Amino acid sequence: MANGGNEYAQDFIKIFEPYPSIDAAREVDKGIVDNIITHLKNSEQYNEETLTFYRCRYILPNNMCSIYEERPKLCIYCPSSGWVVVPPGCGFEAWLFLKREEDMQKVRHAKEELLDLKIMKTKTKDEKLLKKIDSVEKTIQKTIEMFAPHGSAEW
Ligand code: SF4
Repeated sequence: MANGGNEYAQDFIKIFEPYPSIDAAREVDKGIVDNIITHLKNSEQYNEETLTFYRCRYILPNNMCSIYEERPKLCIYCPSSGWVVVPPGCGFEAWLFLKREEDMQKVRHAKEELLDLKIMKTKTKDEKLLKKIDSVEKTIQKTIEMFAPHGSAEW
């Protein structure tokens, strides 16, 4: 996975170049830029000063890919997450909906497991077992926190 990550990072640098400003990106598609900013504003890490929009070097004026047959893996496997923001009417909308539902189910299941563990803790005084439960709880918490920017606390 780490190798894939490095490869994707290299692909990203190869394919994309930054817009000179957010307004320059808005000139191309105001709707999607504002949509992305609205989503990002839910995140504590949001900072408009450091926010950069990128454009693909290989897209043609008719929105076709000029290197489609040789496009890199990043393009082949995108979107990789159900939480990416796509333009309204994008063909991936249904897929994103399903992926988000899957993630929400995963988090709900994790919360149920946490409750089970909490109950289990009240029924034992075995230090070893309590330690093990703590460790499992931490792992489960991480799963929930991973989706925190998307609202997992409310799911
Ligand atoms: S598929 Fe082609 S046009 Fe789309 S991002 Fe990749 S290289 Fe650019």
